[in-house]
Amino acid sequence: MKTLEHRIGGRFLHVLALSLLLGVTPLVTVQAAAPFIKEAKVVTNSFIEIDWEGSQTIKSAGRSKEDSQLEASYFEVKLNGIVLEQTIPWYWNIVDMPLHGVVVNQNKTTLRLATPLDADQMKSLQNGTSKMTVRISSSRVAGSDYAPADTEIIYPVVYKPYYNKTITSKVGIQVKASEFVHQSTLQDCADIIDKILSAAPENLLTIMRSRNSFAIFGPGEHSYNIPEHRSIFLRDAWRRAEGYGGYLAATSAANVVRNHVSQTHHYPTSYASGYRNESILTHEFGHGIHSAVRGSEASDIQALNAEFNRCYENAKEKGMWPNTYAISNSGEYFATLTVIWFNAMRETEVWGPTYGPVNTRAELYVYDRKAYDFFAKILPAQIEYLNENWLNCPDEFKAGIGDPHPW
Ligand SMILES: [Zn+2]
Repeated sequence: MKTLEHRIGGRFLHVLALSLLLGVTPLVTVQAAAPFIKEAKVVTNSFIEIDWEGSQTIKSAGRSKEDSQLEASYFEVKLNGIVLEQTIPWYWNIVDMPLHGVVVNQNKTTLRLATPLDADQMKSLQNGTSKMTVRISSSRVAGSDYAPADTEIIYPVVYKPYYNKTITSKVGIQVKASEFVHQSTLQDCADIIDKILSAAPENLLTIMRSRNSFAIFGPGEHSYNIPEHRSIFLRDAWRRAEGYGGYLAATSAANVVRNHVSQTHHYPTSYASGYRNESILTHEFGHGIHSAVRGSEASDIQALNAEFNRCYENAKEKGMWPNTYAISNSGEYFATLTVIWFNAMRETEVWGPTYGPVNTRAELYVYDRKAYDFFAKILPAQIEYLNENWLNCPDEFKAGIGDPHPW
């Protein structure tokens, strides 16, 4: 076994040999880039991040769950000498979705532990009384020129949590953020969440307090920096999302504070949300509320879930919200209409390909009364805006204009 200090510097050798063969002196030193770990770190109690020096690839084992589990074994993680079992980070095991053993994204690989570290283990890593290591255990981990990894080097894993600040909103939802997010943004986010939930039924709040949370990433980061959401990158690599929903919802600090006030919120003026007139915070948290509505075992919340499903089926059958993201599935219908409730939704004059002219609560009342009546049971009637930053989302177009399927 080699330790980090015994790293072999042999990568220059075969470049030199090639130069001698060709009889030329290389102007640029081209390195055979066998993968080398710059830093390995514990970023949450479940995720280990590997930051690579230079580029690398991981040859896919295949497409089955078993193959993916094999990929997860390409790295051996040990805590105090004992191997920790890993699991596939891709946990949406749905037919037709690719499975991946390890998540590779922007020169990072993220490993997921099968059993999260407990509080004592995290503490001992933090204070240095425990030692974690990682070893690349398969030569299928290779550099961009297929130079295989050295499988004998043992790298230290340092304690560097991704989230370095946390607050809890008044209603009891945890908000957490990376080091690039200003403390005041967490408070803004928590205040918005409290407003969104200010009329929620008690049984909905109960499940949300136990399962839901919100994460914020900052300047220089994107959705896939959120450790719990890194696996989504594999499927959605073709597009850059500004957040993801679910029990853990996330968005950018820029979207929380809305671009035009970024300067007064301690961010550079160039730092901007891609969704200036749409609260992605509310959209993603809307997905979180939907998860809780679907996941609750309380009979009143189950009745709400059934009512919501009827609303979506009704809208689909009648051809409402044509060509929009909102009607693409019941999850997006829930999330989008939650944003519309708070008048923080962008609009377009015609329906589609993503948006439409119905973007305010008043228009929702006229256009999709069943959905309005449903959301009136969980969202506050008295609060019309998230906060002063979200007062003036444009509303120039009226319901039904350009509608090929008038209601
Ligand atoms: Zn969505």
